[in-house]
Amino acid sequence: MINNLGKISIIGAGNVGASCAQRIAERACADIVLVDIIDGLPQGRALDILQSAHILDFKSRLTGTNSYQETANSDVVIITSGISRKPGMTRDELLLTNAKIITEVVQQVANYSPDCIIIMVANPVDAMTHLAINTSRFPRNRVFGLSGVLDCARFSSFIATELNIPVSDVSACIMGQHGNNMVVIPRLSTVKGKPLTEILPPETINKLVKRTINGGAEIVGLLKTGSAFYAPSAAVAQMVDAVISDKKQVMHCATYLEGEYGIRDTVISTPVKLGRTGIEEVIELELTAEEKQSLTNSVKAVQELVKTIKLG
Ligand code: NAD
Repeated sequence: MINNLGKISIIGAGNVGASCAQRIAERACADIVLVDIIDGLPQGRALDILQSAHILDFKSRLTGTNSYQETANSDVVIITSGISRKPGMTRDELLLTNAKIITEVVQQVANYSPDCIIIMVANPVDAMTHLAINTSRFPRNRVFGLSGVLDCARFSSFIATELNIPVSDVSACIMGQHGNNMVVIPRLSTVKGKPLTEILPPETINKLVKRTINGGAEIVGLLKTGSAFYAPSAAVAQMVDAVISDKKQVMHCATYLEGEYGIRDTVISTPVKLGRTGIEEVIELELTAEEKQSLTNSVKAVQELVKTIKLG
Protein backbone atom coordinates (compact mmCIF):
# COMPACT_ATOMS: atom_id res chain seq x y z
CA MET A 1 0.00 0.00 0.00
CA ILE A 2 1.35 3.44 -0.99
CA ASN A 3 0.50 6.30 1.33
CA ASN A 4 0.36 10.03 0.70
CA LEU A 5 1.30 9.70 -2.89
CA GLY A 6 1.06 13.41 -3.58
CA LYS A 7 -0.15 14.64 -6.95
CA ILE A 8 0.04 12.33 -9.95
CA SER A 9 -1.10 13.47 -13.39
CA ILE A 10 -1.74 11.05 -16.20
CA ILE A 11 -1.80 12.36 -19.76
CA GLY A 12 -3.94 10.19 -22.03
CA ALA A 13 -7.09 8.65 -20.58
CA GLY A 14 -7.10 5.65 -22.92
CA ASN A 15 -6.57 2.04 -21.90
CA VAL A 16 -3.16 2.45 -20.24
CA GLY A 17 -3.85 5.90 -18.75
CA ALA A 18 -7.20 5.00 -17.19
CA SER A 19 -5.82 1.69 -15.86
CA CYS A 20 -2.88 3.55 -14.31
CA ALA A 21 -5.35 5.94 -12.64
CA GLN A 22 -7.35 3.01 -11.28
CA ARG A 23 -4.33 1.08 -10.00
CA ILE A 24 -2.74 4.10 -8.35
CA ALA A 25 -6.03 5.28 -6.84
CA GLU A 26 -6.67 1.86 -5.33
CA ARG A 27 -3.25 1.45 -3.75
CA ALA A 28 -2.69 4.96 -2.48
CA CYS A 29 -4.02 8.16 -1.12
CA ALA A 30 -3.23 10.42 -4.05
CA ASP A 31 -4.51 13.38 -6.01
CA ILE A 32 -4.89 11.99 -9.51
CA VAL A 33 -5.53 14.18 -12.54
CA LEU A 34 -6.45 12.46 -15.80
CA VAL A 35 -6.02 14.53 -19.00
CA ASP A 36 -7.08 13.79 -22.58
CA ILE A 37 -7.96 15.76 -25.70
CA ILE A 38 -11.29 13.95 -26.05
CA ASP A 39 -14.02 15.93 -24.31
CA GLY A 40 -15.71 13.86 -21.59
CA LEU A 41 -13.34 10.88 -21.70
CA PRO A 42 -11.03 11.80 -18.80
CA GLN A 43 -13.96 13.30 -16.85
CA GLY A 44 -16.07 10.15 -17.26
CA ARG A 45 -13.27 7.74 -16.45
CA ALA A 46 -12.14 9.73 -13.39
CA LEU A 47 -15.72 9.84 -12.10
CA ASP A 48 -16.20 6.11 -12.66
CA ILE A 49 -13.00 5.25 -10.75
CA LEU A 50 -13.88 7.72 -7.97
CA GLN A 51 -17.24 6.04 -7.48
CA SER A 52 -15.47 2.78 -6.60
CA ALA A 53 -13.81 4.47 -3.59
CA HIS A 54 -16.62 3.63 -1.18
CA ILE A 55 -16.60 -0.02 -2.20
CA LEU A 56 -12.82 -0.40 -2.23
CA ASP A 57 -12.23 1.97 0.67
CA PHE A 58 -9.60 4.24 -0.88
CA LYS A 59 -9.08 7.92 -0.25
CA SER A 60 -7.57 9.10 -3.53
CA ARG A 61 -9.20 12.06 -5.23
CA LEU A 62 -9.64 11.95 -9.01
CA THR A 63 -10.23 14.73 -11.53
CA GLY A 64 -10.71 14.43 -15.28
CA THR A 65 -9.94 17.39 -17.52
CA ASN A 66 -9.05 18.56 -21.03
CA SER A 67 -6.70 21.27 -19.75
CA TYR A 68 -3.30 21.28 -18.10
CA GLN A 69 -4.13 23.86 -15.45
CA GLU A 70 -5.37 21.18 -13.07
CA THR A 71 -2.07 19.30 -13.44
CA ALA A 72 -0.04 22.21 -12.01
CA ASN A 73 2.71 21.24 -9.58
CA SER A 74 2.34 17.50 -10.03
CA ASP A 75 4.96 15.32 -8.34
CA VAL A 76 4.84 12.69 -11.08
CA VAL A 77 3.41 12.92 -14.60
CA ILE A 78 2.76 9.69 -16.53
CA ILE A 79 2.55 10.19 -20.29
CA THR A 80 0.38 7.65 -22.10
CA SER A 81 -1.02 9.93 -24.82
CA GLY A 82 -0.51 8.68 -28.34
CA ILE A 83 -1.60 6.02 -30.76
CA SER A 84 -1.08 2.34 -30.02
CA ARG A 85 -0.30 -0.56 -32.36
CA LYS A 86 -2.69 -2.37 -34.65
CA PRO A 87 -2.04 -6.04 -35.52
CA GLY A 88 1.09 -6.41 -37.67
CA MET A 89 2.54 -3.02 -36.70
CA THR A 90 5.84 -2.56 -34.86
CA ARG A 91 6.22 0.02 -32.08
CA ASP A 92 8.59 1.92 -34.36
CA GLU A 93 5.76 2.61 -36.83
CA LEU A 94 4.15 4.85 -34.21
CA LEU A 95 7.20 7.12 -34.21
CA LEU A 96 6.19 10.19 -36.22
CA THR A 97 2.61 10.49 -34.98
CA ASN A 98 3.57 10.04 -31.35
CA ALA A 99 6.62 12.33 -31.59
CA LYS A 100 4.31 15.22 -32.51
CA ILE A 101 1.90 14.41 -29.65
CA ILE A 102 4.69 13.92 -27.11
CA THR A 103 6.41 17.21 -28.02
CA GLU A 104 3.19 19.18 -27.43
CA VAL A 105 2.34 17.28 -24.25
CA VAL A 106 5.80 17.57 -22.70
CA GLN A 107 5.88 21.33 -23.34
CA GLN A 108 2.66 21.69 -21.34
CA VAL A 109 3.81 19.32 -18.61
CA ALA A 110 7.14 21.12 -18.14
CA ASN A 111 5.37 24.47 -18.12
CA TYR A 112 2.84 23.53 -15.44
CA SER A 113 4.99 21.14 -13.37
CA PRO A 114 8.61 22.25 -13.75
CA ASP A 115 9.81 20.07 -10.85
CA CYS A 116 7.96 16.87 -11.70
CA ILE A 117 9.24 13.43 -12.57
CA ILE A 118 8.06 12.25 -16.00
CA ILE A 119 7.36 8.56 -16.61
CA MET A 120 7.05 8.02 -20.38
CA VAL A 121 4.81 5.22 -21.60
CA ALA A 122 3.99 6.18 -25.21
CA ASN A 123 5.81 4.12 -27.84
CA PRO A 124 8.40 3.79 -29.21
CA VAL A 125 9.24 4.47 -25.59
CA ASP A 126 13.04 4.80 -25.81
CA ALA A 127 12.83 7.48 -28.51
CA MET A 128 9.87 9.19 -26.77
CA THR A 129 11.81 9.33 -23.48
CA HIS A 130 14.76 10.92 -25.31
CA LEU A 131 12.39 13.39 -26.96
CA ALA A 132 10.86 14.25 -23.56
CA ILE A 133 14.29 14.92 -22.05
CA ASN A 134 15.17 17.26 -24.93
CA THR A 135 11.82 19.01 -24.92
CA SER A 136 11.53 19.48 -21.15
CA ARG A 137 15.23 20.15 -20.59
CA PHE A 138 14.81 18.23 -17.31
CA PRO A 139 17.83 16.32 -16.01
CA ARG A 140 17.87 12.64 -16.95
CA ASN A 141 17.08 11.45 -13.42
CA ARG A 142 13.60 13.03 -13.78
CA VAL A 143 12.62 11.55 -17.15
CA PHE A 144 12.54 7.80 -17.75
CA GLY A 145 10.30 5.28 -19.41
CA LEU A 146 8.33 2.08 -18.96
CA SER A 147 10.11 -0.79 -20.65
CA GLY A 148 12.15 -3.23 -18.58
CA VAL A 149 9.69 -3.54 -15.70
CA LEU A 150 7.07 -4.77 -18.17
CA ASP A 151 9.44 -6.87 -20.28
CA CYS A 152 10.90 -8.54 -17.16
CA ALA A 153 7.38 -9.21 -15.84
CA ARG A 154 6.46 -10.89 -19.13
CA PHE A 155 9.59 -13.07 -19.17
CA SER A 156 9.08 -13.94 -15.48
CA SER A 157 5.52 -15.03 -16.09
CA PHE A 158 6.56 -17.28 -19.00
CA ILE A 159 9.36 -18.84 -16.88
CA ALA A 160 7.04 -19.42 -13.92
CA THR A 161 4.41 -21.03 -16.15
CA GLU A 162 7.02 -23.25 -17.84
CA LEU A 163 8.42 -24.45 -14.50
CA ASN A 164 5.08 -24.45 -12.67
CA ILE A 165 6.49 -22.35 -9.82
CA PRO A 166 5.37 -19.09 -8.15
CA VAL A 167 6.31 -16.09 -10.28
CA SER A 168 7.74 -14.45 -7.13
CA ASP A 169 10.61 -17.00 -7.28
CA VAL A 170 11.74 -15.54 -10.62
CA SER A 171 13.91 -12.53 -11.28
CA ALA A 172 14.40 -11.56 -14.93
CA CYS A 173 17.06 -9.40 -16.56
CA ILE A 174 16.26 -7.57 -19.80
CA MET A 175 18.08 -4.57 -21.24
CA GLY A 176 18.19 -2.53 -24.43
CA GLN A 177 15.38 -1.40 -26.71
CA HIS A 178 11.72 -1.93 -25.82
CA GLY A 179 11.12 -3.60 -29.15
CA ASN A 180 12.46 -6.22 -31.49
CA ASN A 181 16.08 -5.53 -30.44
CA MET A 182 15.39 -6.14 -26.75
CA VAL A 183 18.31 -7.87 -25.00
CA VAL A 184 16.99 -10.72 -22.86
CA ILE A 185 19.77 -12.05 -20.61
CA PRO A 186 18.98 -15.61 -19.36
CA ARG A 187 22.42 -15.85 -17.65
CA LEU A 188 21.40 -13.03 -15.28
CA SER A 189 17.79 -14.16 -14.95
CA THR A 190 17.31 -16.37 -11.92
CA VAL A 191 14.94 -18.74 -10.17
CA LYS A 192 15.48 -18.57 -6.40
CA GLY A 193 18.95 -17.16 -7.14
CA LYS A 194 19.96 -19.91 -9.60
CA PRO A 195 20.71 -18.80 -13.19
CA LEU A 196 18.03 -19.80 -15.68
CA THR A 197 20.77 -21.26 -17.89
CA GLU A 198 21.35 -23.95 -15.20
CA ILE A 199 17.64 -24.77 -14.94
CA LEU A 200 16.20 -24.96 -18.45
CA PRO A 201 17.66 -26.35 -21.70
CA PRO A 202 18.74 -23.74 -24.32
CA GLU A 203 15.85 -24.60 -26.70
CA THR A 204 13.26 -23.91 -24.01
CA ILE A 205 15.01 -20.69 -22.98
CA ASN A 206 15.10 -19.56 -26.63
CA LYS A 207 11.39 -20.25 -26.97
CA LEU A 208 10.60 -18.15 -23.87
CA VAL A 209 12.97 -15.36 -24.97
CA LYS A 210 11.28 -15.15 -28.40
CA ARG A 211 7.84 -15.09 -26.79
CA THR A 212 8.99 -12.25 -24.49
CA ILE A 213 10.38 -10.17 -27.36
CA ASN A 214 7.07 -10.75 -29.16
CA GLY A 215 5.10 -10.30 -25.90
CA GLY A 216 3.36 -7.04 -26.81
CA ALA A 217 2.66 -8.12 -30.40
CA GLU A 218 1.10 -11.39 -29.21
CA ILE A 219 -1.47 -9.39 -27.23
CA VAL A 220 -2.05 -6.89 -30.07
CA GLY A 221 -2.71 -9.85 -32.37
CA LEU A 222 -5.27 -11.30 -29.97
CA LEU A 223 -7.04 -8.04 -29.11
CA LYS A 224 -7.03 -6.74 -32.71
CA THR A 225 -8.21 -3.29 -31.59
CA GLY A 226 -5.48 -2.08 -29.23
CA SER A 227 -2.46 -3.09 -27.19
CA ALA A 228 -1.78 -4.41 -23.69
CA PHE A 229 -2.74 -2.34 -20.68
CA TYR A 230 -3.23 -4.49 -17.57
CA ALA A 231 0.43 -5.46 -17.15
CA PRO A 232 1.71 -2.08 -18.42
CA SER A 233 -0.40 -0.17 -15.89
CA ALA A 234 0.70 -2.52 -13.09
CA ALA A 235 4.32 -1.84 -14.07
CA VAL A 236 3.77 1.94 -14.05
CA ALA A 237 2.08 1.78 -10.63
CA GLN A 238 5.12 -0.08 -9.28
CA MET A 239 7.47 2.57 -10.71
CA VAL A 240 5.38 5.38 -9.20
CA ASP A 241 5.42 3.58 -5.85
CA ALA A 242 9.22 3.26 -5.95
CA VAL A 243 9.55 6.99 -6.60
CA ILE A 244 6.98 8.40 -4.22
CA SER A 245 7.74 5.99 -1.39
CA ASP A 246 11.49 6.55 -1.94
CA LYS A 247 12.02 2.80 -2.12
CA LYS A 248 15.50 2.87 -3.71
CA GLN A 249 14.29 -0.21 -5.59
CA VAL A 250 16.27 -1.50 -8.56
CA MET A 251 14.08 -1.69 -11.66
CA HIS A 252 14.78 -1.85 -15.38
CA CYS A 253 13.71 1.45 -16.95
CA ALA A 254 14.25 3.29 -20.24
CA THR A 255 17.16 5.47 -19.15
CA TYR A 256 19.28 8.13 -20.84
CA LEU A 257 22.87 6.87 -20.66
CA GLU A 258 25.80 9.22 -20.19
CA GLY A 259 28.72 6.84 -20.66
CA GLU A 260 27.48 3.84 -18.67
CA TYR A 261 28.10 0.61 -20.59
CA GLY A 262 30.22 2.77 -22.92
CA ILE A 263 26.95 4.25 -24.30
CA ARG A 264 26.21 7.97 -24.58
CA ASP A 265 23.27 10.11 -25.61
CA THR A 266 20.90 7.15 -26.02
CA VAL A 267 17.90 5.88 -24.07
CA ILE A 268 17.70 2.12 -23.51
CA SER A 269 16.50 -0.10 -20.70
CA THR A 270 19.03 -0.65 -17.94
CA PRO A 271 18.70 -1.45 -14.24
CA VAL A 272 18.44 1.73 -12.17
CA LYS A 273 17.76 2.56 -8.54
CA LEU A 274 14.45 4.44 -8.30
CA GLY A 275 13.76 6.76 -5.37
CA ARG A 276 12.21 10.12 -4.55
CA THR A 277 14.45 12.01 -6.96
CA GLY A 278 13.78 9.55 -9.78
CA ILE A 279 16.80 7.67 -11.11
CA GLU A 280 19.27 7.74 -8.22
CA GLU A 281 21.84 5.40 -9.73
CA VAL A 282 22.42 3.58 -12.99
CA ILE A 283 23.48 0.01 -12.18
CA GLU A 284 26.24 -1.33 -14.44
CA LEU A 285 26.17 -5.10 -14.86
CA GLU A 286 29.13 -7.14 -16.09
CA LEU A 287 28.13 -8.32 -19.56
CA THR A 288 29.70 -10.98 -21.77
CA ALA A 289 31.07 -10.04 -25.21
CA GLU A 290 27.95 -11.52 -26.84
CA GLU A 291 25.58 -9.62 -24.55
CA LYS A 292 27.53 -6.39 -25.21
CA GLN A 293 27.19 -6.99 -28.95
CA SER A 294 23.42 -7.44 -28.61
CA LEU A 295 23.26 -4.23 -26.60
CA THR A 296 25.22 -2.41 -29.32
CA ASN A 297 22.67 -3.62 -31.91
CA SER A 298 19.87 -2.41 -29.68
CA VAL A 299 21.50 1.00 -29.27
CA LYS A 300 21.89 1.33 -33.06
CA ALA A 301 18.19 0.58 -33.58
CA VAL A 302 17.14 3.24 -31.05
CA GLN A 303 19.59 5.78 -32.49
CA GLU A 304 18.12 5.24 -35.99
CA LEU A 305 14.65 6.11 -34.67
CA VAL A 306 15.91 9.16 -32.84
CA LYS A 307 17.68 10.35 -36.01
CA THR A 308 14.35 10.14 -37.87
CA ILE A 309 12.73 12.62 -35.48
CA LYS A 310 15.81 14.87 -35.68
CA LEU A 311 16.31 15.63 -32.01
CA GLY A 312 18.18 18.86 -31.35
P1 NAD B 1 -5.29 4.40 -26.26
O1 NAD B 1 -5.53 4.68 -27.69
O2 NAD B 1 -6.24 3.55 -25.50
O3 NAD B 1 -5.14 5.79 -25.46
C1 NAD B 1 -4.39 6.86 -25.91
C2 NAD B 1 -5.10 8.13 -25.48
O4 NAD B 1 -4.24 9.26 -25.77
C3 NAD B 1 -6.42 8.38 -26.21
O5 NAD B 1 -7.48 8.49 -25.28
C4 NAD B 1 -6.17 9.68 -26.95
O6 NAD B 1 -7.33 10.51 -27.05
C5 NAD B 1 -5.12 10.33 -26.08
N1 NAD B 1 -4.37 11.41 -26.75
C6 NAD B 1 -3.95 11.48 -28.03
N2 NAD B 1 -3.33 12.66 -28.26
C7 NAD B 1 -3.36 13.34 -27.08
C8 NAD B 1 -2.88 14.62 -26.67
N3 NAD B 1 -2.25 15.43 -27.52
N4 NAD B 1 -3.09 14.99 -25.40
C9 NAD B 1 -3.75 14.18 -24.52
N5 NAD B 1 -4.22 12.97 -24.86
C10 NAD B 1 -4.04 12.55 -26.12
O7 NAD B 1 -3.82 3.76 -26.19
P2 NAD B 1 -3.17 2.96 -24.94
O8 NAD B 1 -3.42 1.52 -25.13
O9 NAD B 1 -3.57 3.64 -23.70
O10 NAD B 1 -1.61 3.19 -25.24
C11 NAD B 1 -1.06 4.48 -25.11
C12 NAD B 1 0.40 4.49 -25.56
O11 NAD B 1 1.16 3.70 -24.65
C13 NAD B 1 0.65 3.88 -26.95
O12 NAD B 1 1.65 4.63 -27.61
C14 NAD B 1 1.15 2.49 -26.64
O13 NAD B 1 1.94 1.97 -27.68
C15 NAD B 1 1.96 2.78 -25.41
N6 NAD B 1 2.25 1.62 -24.55
C16 NAD B 1 3.53 1.53 -24.10
C17 NAD B 1 3.90 0.49 -23.27
C18 NAD B 1 5.31 0.41 -22.77
O14 NAD B 1 5.71 -0.64 -22.30
N7 NAD B 1 6.08 1.49 -22.84
C19 NAD B 1 2.94 -0.48 -22.91
C20 NAD B 1 1.63 -0.34 -23.37
C21 NAD B 1 1.30 0.73 -24.21
